[in-house]
Amino acid sequence: MHEMGIMEGVLDSALKSAQQAHALRIRKITLSIGDMTECIDDALQFSFEILSENTLAQGATLVLNKVSPRSVCLDCRKEFDHDRFHRQCPYCQSYSTDLIAGRELSIDSIEVDLPDDNKGVSEGNVASDGGGTKTAHSESDS
Ligand SMILES: [Zn+2]
Repeated sequence: MHEMGIMEGVLDSALKSAQQAHALRIRKITLSIGDMTECIDDALQFSFEILSENTLAQGATLVLNKVSPRSVCLDCRKEFDHDRFHRQCPYCQSYSTDLIAGRELSIDSIEVDLPDDNKGVSEGNVASDGGGTKTAHSESDS
């Protein structure tokens, strides 16, 4: 299951950016993942659950945006979408094609919870016991 290794790398960089932002936890990670990586969604989710245990990303939502493969024909220079197994040019039937999309694996976005004093995500489902008194008064009467 090569998804485990892939997810390890993803989680690693997600955790690094979360730490740099002094996040309390990661809420959501959105990935772009090309079909040519041959990753199975379920296996990715499963790996993520296991690997994120006891990290900032525990319980976070993993969103997978699948990117379908796309190639350019080296003979007629046309671009076309295809599936994982058919890379023949549909226009001139050439087999000399170059993959231009579908092998990517990138982190699109990470949503994190920031500490109160950073006024980050405040969706209010954190049991607030007095700590964050939000006084949003703007003293502007000329
Ligand atoms: Zn062609």
